[in-house]
Amino acid sequence: MDLDLLRTTLEQAGEPGYRFDQAWAWQARGAADWKAMSDLPAPLRAKLGESVPFSTLTVTNEALSTDGTLKVLFETADGRPVEAVLMRYRDGRRSLCLSSQSGCPLTCTFCATGAMKFGRNLTTAEIIDQALHFRRIGKVDHCVFMGMGEPMMNLDSVLAACALLPDLGITNRRTAISTVGWAPGIDALAQQSRPIRLALSLHAPNDALRSEIMAVNDRYPISEVLAACDRHYESRRRMTFIEYVMLAGVNDRYEQAVELASLLDPKKYKVNLIPYNPSGSPYEGSSRGAIDAFRDTLEAAGLGATVRLTRGRDIDAACGQLAAKALAG
Ligand code: SAH
Repeated sequence: MDLDLLRTTLEQAGEPGYRFDQAWAWQARGAADWKAMSDLPAPLRAKLGESVPFSTLTVTNEALSTDGTLKVLFETADGRPVEAVLMRYRDGRRSLCLSSQSGCPLTCTFCATGAMKFGRNLTTAEIIDQALHFRRIGKVDHCVFMGMGEPMMNLDSVLAACALLPDLGITNRRTAISTVGWAPGIDALAQQSRPIRLALSLHAPNDALRSEIMAVNDRYPISEVLAACDRHYESRRRMTFIEYVMLAGVNDRYEQAVELASLLDPKKYKVNLIPYNPSGSPYEGSSRGAIDAFRDTLEAAGLGATVRLTRGRDIDAACGQLAAKALAG
């Protein structure tokens, strides 16, 4: 919901200031529509129903995985695709994966969103509306900006959405922003005061390989990006998660694990090894054995490393995949 529009609509109707808080509290608790907001006068609910769209997004496609993962493809008012995912875990955790842009201007070779045309930055309303959609289904408690787009290129809107997420039940400590290594954004995150987790998509242990699969590395090479992550650690005292997608024969060899471990201070970094979700790219995911061996090498070097659970593989839940298919089909 466009909260600026809500605020001005209420002001112009001469409503007292607390009406805004009432309406937002209903939204944040997962109200289904204006009608549900029973402590707002009925004529006001009707007026809001006419003047303020309940969401800036409409659902165009949904896919439910056998593991409970729910992926939703939305469309903005100007017809841009936006994806978001709800992951439901056995321990009760409910984690959202949100998009910050429609499409992505970066062109990482293994990523389905990177192959799409870039649309535009999403507004704060379009970001929070993804989360509100899932809040209407049930409680939510974690959030990662690992959907479409590069959050650091739209940081103001992402942070404005982060300021609202606690009202939905997602604290900033349970929120992570994942970046390709957009160094100025990492510094900006270090300088603000929210305890948001930083995740860095590294995917390669040296500049030669990283530039091959992530063109952005030519602009911000590894040493510069890790220096920015170090500054973030110094300022926020929270470990950076290194995301490392396991690509067979590309970045999964023993020497590459050794080289990766040599880059990272175990006090400041923890590695998440991500099984690759095939996305129509030329890459194949590493075998389970290769992933485990890579993790063991990192751990032998004293670095914390875990293999990320694959979720929603049967519904193409990796970044950009649902939108890419819908656009192609
Ligand atoms: N632009 C940001 C956030 C979006 S991508 C970033 O790059 O961090 C979120 C994560 O999903 C990134 O680590 C990205 O490299 C990874 N990813 C992209 N395509 C994938 C795929 N097919 N399988 C597994 N992970 C993928």
